[in-house]
Amino acid sequence: MDKLEKKSITKSKILNYVINNKITSKTELAKELGLSMPTVLTNVNELMDKGVLVETGEYESTGGRKAKSLEINPSHRYAMGIVITANHVGMVLVNLKCEIEKVERTRLKFSTDMSYCTKLSQMTKHFLKNMKNQGRLLGIGISIPGIINQKENLIIKSHALQVENFSLSFLEQAFPFPVYFENDANAAMLAEDLHQYQNAIYLSLNNTLGGAFCIDGHLFPGQNQKAGEFGHMILVPNGKTCYCGKHGCADAYCAASVLTDGTQYTLEQFMKQVEQNDPAAMNKWEKYLNDLAILISNLRMAYDMDMILGGEVGGYLSDYMIPLGEKVLSYNGFDHDIRYLKNCSYKKEASAVGAAKHFLYEFIKNIS
Ligand SMILES: [Zn+2]
Repeated sequence: MDKLEKKSITKSKILNYVINNKITSKTELAKELGLSMPTVLTNVNELMDKGVLVETGEYESTGGRKAKSLEINPSHRYAMGIVITANHVGMVLVNLKCEIEKVERTRLKFSTDMSYCTKLSQMTKHFLKNMKNQGRLLGIGISIPGIINQKENLIIKSHALQVENFSLSFLEQAFPFPVYFENDANAAMLAEDLHQYQNAIYLSLNNTLGGAFCIDGHLFPGQNQKAGEFGHMILVPNGKTCYCGKHGCADAYCAASVLTDGTQYTLEQFMKQVEQNDPAAMNKWEKYLNDLAILISNLRMAYDMDMILGGEVGGYLSDYMIPLGEKVLSYNGFDHDIRYLKNCSYKKEASAVGAAKHFLYEFIKNIS
C-alpha cells in the first residue's frame, strides 16, 4: 500500500466516524480510531481545507478544557435518489450528512416507451432546478422493484413493472449525471447505518414484500441476485393466491396491500381506523400482525440476526412493537425478548435515500 492510499483510508475512517457520531473532536478521533494526534491533525486540516469537515462551536468532552467540535459539512456534496414503482416516482435530495433536504412524490405510470424516459428526465430537471451548485451532485441512485443485474444494467425480472430482461440503458441516458441502479429492498437496507448493524435482515413491507440482508456490513446478493426474496417463502400451504401465481406466499399475507386491498383506502387511512379502534380494521390488523409474527419468527430461526422492519407498514410498526413482540415470542421458543427487532430509520422513501447514499459512500471511500 503506498502512502497516498494509506492517507485516503485514514480520511475515510475519520469521515465515517464523524458521520456515525454526528459530532466529534480531534482528541476523540485520535482515541477512538487509534491514530496519533499528528496524523489526526494533518488529515482533519486537509479535510477542512477541502470543505468536507467544518468546526462548529465547542464540544463537551469529559473534563478538561472544551475542544472544538467537528462536523461534516452537509452541503459539500449531494446525491439524488429516485424510486420507481408501477404508478409513482419518488425523488429525494440527500446531503453528505445523509439528511433529506427535499422530497417529492408524483404519480407516473411506468412504461417502456421513450415518453416515460423523457418525462422522468424533465421531472428530475425540475426537482433540481433550485439547487445552487449542481456540480456538487455526485449522481443519481435509482431504486427498481425487481431483480437487477448491475453489471449489465438489466432488470432480470420485475413483477411490479411487468418486464423481463429489460435494459436500463435507455434510462441511464436520460440523466446528465452518473447513475446507479439498485433493487428496492437492497436500496432500503442501504439507507440504514450498516456500520451499526453489520449483520441484519431488512423486511420491506410495501405493496409487495421485499427483503434484503447484509453480512459484515455488506449487502449479500446471493448467487443469482435473488437473496432475500422472503415474500415468496410459503407461509400457509395451499393458502391465498400470490401475484407470482403460487399459493400461500408470505407476500399474500404480509405485504402492505393486504391491509388496503378490496377497499379504496390508503394505508394511512387504514392505520387511522386502527387508531380509532374501528372493529373491522382492528381485526384485520390483528390478523396481519399474527402472520407477520410467523414470518419474523421463521427468519429469526434461520438467520439469527437483527431484523429491521421497513417499508410502508414498517413506518407504523414502531407504535405496535408490544403486540407484535408478544406474538413473535409465542412462535419462537429460543429467544426471550425481541430486542433484535428494529424500526427503520427512514419512514418515507427509504429506497430512494439508500440508492442515493451509494454515491455518498463511494465519495467517502475514495476521498484522497
Ligand atoms: Zn409468491
